[in-house]
Amino acid sequence: MQLTQTIPYVEDLIHKACARSGRSRSEVQTIAVTKYVSAETTGKVLQSGLLHIGENRWQDAQAKWEAYGEQGLGVWHFIGHLQTNKVKDVVGKFAYIHSLDRLSLAKEMDKKAAALGIAAQCFIQLNVSGEETKYGLEPEALHGFVDELKAFRHIRIVGLMTMAPYEAEPESTRPVFRRLRELRDELNREQALGYEVPHLSMGMSNDFEVAIEEGATWIRLGSILVGRE
Ligand SMILES: *Cc1c(COP(=O)(O)O)cnc(C)c1O
Repeated sequence: MQLTQTIPYVEDLIHKACARSGRSRSEVQTIAVTKYVSAETTGKVLQSGLLHIGENRWQDAQAKWEAYGEQGLGVWHFIGHLQTNKVKDVVGKFAYIHSLDRLSLAKEMDKKAAALGIAAQCFIQLNVSGEETKYGLEPEALHGFVDELKAFRHIRIVGLMTMAPYEAEPESTRPVFRRLRELRDELNREQALGYEVPHLSMGMSNDFEVAIEEGATWIRLGSILVGRE
């Protein structure tokens, strides 16, 4: 399928999910996940007007970032597990990092962001479903983690992120997305960070409609939107 077909197809599904849940279309932003495609195709994605690009490994992203990001094209989102030794490559290039899940990573990111004179915009990744194979902080550890993050002046938490288990029936993912929204609302109610945490990064090709209904503000779409090569 071509982008000229997938974009309106996905757009229609986003509109309908927003309508079903009484949300405005403008509350939901799409990250085009290009991890399954070449640099050339990533260029076409950007030309098509999809501005937000998601990659999950620096090794795979590098050539694409150098071809486009370095020229000021696109807003880059790092959505995968981030190894501490890759922080130096990623912070400063990616506008958002969706996978902050441990203190040692926060420390390294803060150091790099301070050196660059920026604030690294991060999502805290949570393992809401409790699957052993998933990265992310346990929900029970969120409050303690947030308290410790206050020491890092070059990290700005913009939201929470999770990955739901793959389900043949997407409806089954709903409790995971609902829980992430409740966790964000709790942080805000308690003013845990001293500022508002607006975003929820949740929903992939298989389950983004349910995620939107549960409050996603960023959905991350690879196969359904960008395709695979
Ligand atoms: C690959 C990936 C996606 C996109 O996956 P699709 O199911 O192809 O939409 C979204 N989020 C993360 C963290 C990913 O690694």
